Amino acid sequence: MALGPPFEVVFFDCDSTLCAIEGIDELARRSGVTAEVASLTEAAMDGRLPLEAVYGERLDKTRPGRDAVEWLGERYVQALVEGAHEVVGTLTTLGKEVHIVSSGIRQAVLRVGETLAIPAERVHAVEVVWDAAGRYIDYDRGSPLTRAGGKATVCRAALRNGVAAAMVGDGVTDLEAAAAGVYVIGFGGVVRRPAVSRQADVFVPGPTLRPLLEVLLGVAERRSIGKNDRCPGE
Ligand SMILES: [Mg+2]
Repeated sequence: MALGPPFEVVFFDCDSTLCAIEGIDELARRSGVTAEVASLTEAAMDGRLPLEAVYGERLDKTRPGRDAVEWLGERYVQALVEGAHEVVGTLTTLGKEVHIVSSGIRQAVLRVGETLAIPAERVHAVEVVWDAAGRYIDYDRGSPLTRAGGKATVCRAALRNGVAAAMVGDGVTDLEAAAAGVYVIGFGGVVRRPAVSRQADVFVPGPTLRPLLEVLLGVAERRSIGKNDRCPGE
């Protein structure tokens, strides 16, 4: 059973949560294989195919080199969802531990971490491997984030016993964090997935990330940042 708010540790998904894009789909568009890759992504995020069934295939089709991944890092930063800076900044100011847990390409997701002042050791994602000329060779096949259940594995490794933690995400792979005793907050500001709005502990429809602060913080913390609770009729 997950502990409720206030949360000391907050895990954020990247694609379609902190950022309004799916990184792998952007890379596919750039390399001209859009339709094949986007349908695989949708199938995995809706839970129709397990992640491991699509993971390698999407990268084999797109084969992202160093240039493409640097380009994607900038796209992520341009596509940050409204409220991302405010929410992550407030959590950090209050002493919370903020992580990004993503099945995206780590070298690109690190740009999101830098922009939001999340330390690199709290950015969990899948590294790709290039040759000396920056051409794609492979990805980190040992990463749990390439498989179903991987987000729970990463959350468990990052958590100390008895610490209240929340995961914020749009996809069914984010729901898996519940297996690590993490409270799951579905976010529908970019894509609204029925399986997620049904199964998450709470669902924040968006469009901005700002309402998350009301879900993540305790009453005293909300007061301390000037977000007082209003009594009905006030
Ligand atoms: Mg996502």
